[in-house]
Amino acid sequence: MSAEQQGQNFLASVDRYFDKAAAATNHPKGLLQQIKICNSVYSIKFPLKTENGYKVIKGWRAEHSHHKLPVKGGIRYSDEASEDEVIALATLMTYKCAIVDVPFGGAKGAVQINPKQFNKRELERITRRYTVELIKKNFIGPAVDVPAPDYGTGAREMAWIADTYMAFHGEQIDALGCVTGKSVPQGGIRGRTEATGLGTYYGLKEACAHEEDMKKLGLETGIEGKTFVVQGLGNVGYHAAKFCIEAGAILVGVSEYEGAIHKSDGIDLERLMAYRKETGSILGFEGATDLPSREAGLEIECDILIPAALENQITAENAPRINTKIIGEAANGPITADAEKILEEKGVMIIPDVYINAGGVTVSYFEWLKNLSHVRFGRMGKRFEQAAYDKILNIIEKTTERSLTKEEREMVARGADEADLVYSGLEETMSVAYNHTREILMSNDKVDNLRTAAFVNAIDKVALCYFELGIFP
Ligand code: NAD
Repeated sequence: MSAEQQGQNFLASVDRYFDKAAAATNHPKGLLQQIKICNSVYSIKFPLKTENGYKVIKGWRAEHSHHKLPVKGGIRYSDEASEDEVIALATLMTYKCAIVDVPFGGAKGAVQINPKQFNKRELERITRRYTVELIKKNFIGPAVDVPAPDYGTGAREMAWIADTYMAFHGEQIDALGCVTGKSVPQGGIRGRTEATGLGTYYGLKEACAHEEDMKKLGLETGIEGKTFVVQGLGNVGYHAAKFCIEAGAILVGVSEYEGAIHKSDGIDLERLMAYRKETGSILGFEGATDLPSREAGLEIECDILIPAALENQITAENAPRINTKIIGEAANGPITADAEKILEEKGVMIIPDVYINAGGVTVSYFEWLKNLSHVRFGRMGKRFEQAAYDKILNIIEKTTERSLTKEEREMVARGADEADLVYSGLEETMSVAYNHTREILMSNDKVDNLRTAAFVNAIDKVALCYFELGIFP
């Protein structure tokens, strides 16, 4: 299937999810149409001089919804990117931001390249030129459109984008807020790198905390002891796996670009990462069985499957062979609409992408706030909090006549620093959003799964903006 066809299918899947959820609301038809359509798409082509001659580089930026500004969404570098894929991803961003109460509209960008086929200097030139094209059309800026990392991009590309933007708009005091996912020295925030994976873990933790839902799946509550498989050991997959393991879950399978491995008594994640760095592959890892294909990794028996690579990974073809009870969609759109039907008939609980991978945009929002306020979270209050706790502990020591140990005092009497606040803000966001979405599922007869509930949640919130503007009755 061509990249264009894949993009079309992805967009069709997102639209089907929207239509299903829209039918479970009472909003006017015209308003639903306005929420569904993509507001603007900018298609770009520019030349790049490489060692092997000139190449034409294709890129896009889609701003799905201007109901709130700025719009926000990652930039991906992938030779599979297409315009429809970018629109689908921008659409998901609108709903995602609404679900986690991040006050942005949705956007997404892509450059149609395989970054592995370009050297660092070429990648820098591509990134800077793409940014200039966005600047020319006002498709980037702290008040209009704020990109972030996605598949194939990271803090390095975000630093190039910020630097290019600041070269054009050095007079703007908030210029650094033109992009998020920057490294901390470049104006980023602690906790952003791991945010999407950490948010995925918080989402799974929340889902696994509901006894009645777990009972239906034949599982105990909690993450501890659950087996899981991850597809894609990139930024999102690695961090999701890391936090699940820290909470006591057992990583029994990994699927990566080069193949898949299985080890029922648990894979040591850090050793696997080091092994892959050294050998270039996860295959042949000590004690694990190599599977015949990377697709086979998705079919390993487990309690939780975390697809964290790309869209369209679970289709009607392989869905019957998926052998898990819960799927946490860390990637965007890993399950096609047809596959979802099959999985639900099998009783699989799907925690949708629009909710579970919203940790990245949530912490990006915190980074943007930090850039606008020009102060690190925790800087003003940390010492004050610590002193206040110290005073309380002194009183407790006096009244109880018990002296605290140094460790006890240090554990309690500490002020929150930036990472503490980011983790706490993210956990609260993921918890509130999950429970709100679950309530919609429990209370609306027309809603039959978490994805539809999440979309209803999003549609209601976006609709509210238009009601308040008086555009729709
Ligand atoms: P990444 O580039 O860091 O990692 C992706 C990993 O998937 C790579 O290791 C790659 O080798 C692997 N992979 C690619 N194709 C594969 C295949 N067919 N089978 C198995 N593995 C494969 O990207 P990322 O930032 O971790 O993003 C992963 C997904 O999460 C994407 O769908 C992205 O849109 C989504 N997402 C990312 C963020 C973020 O903050 N980075 C936020 C929200 C959603």
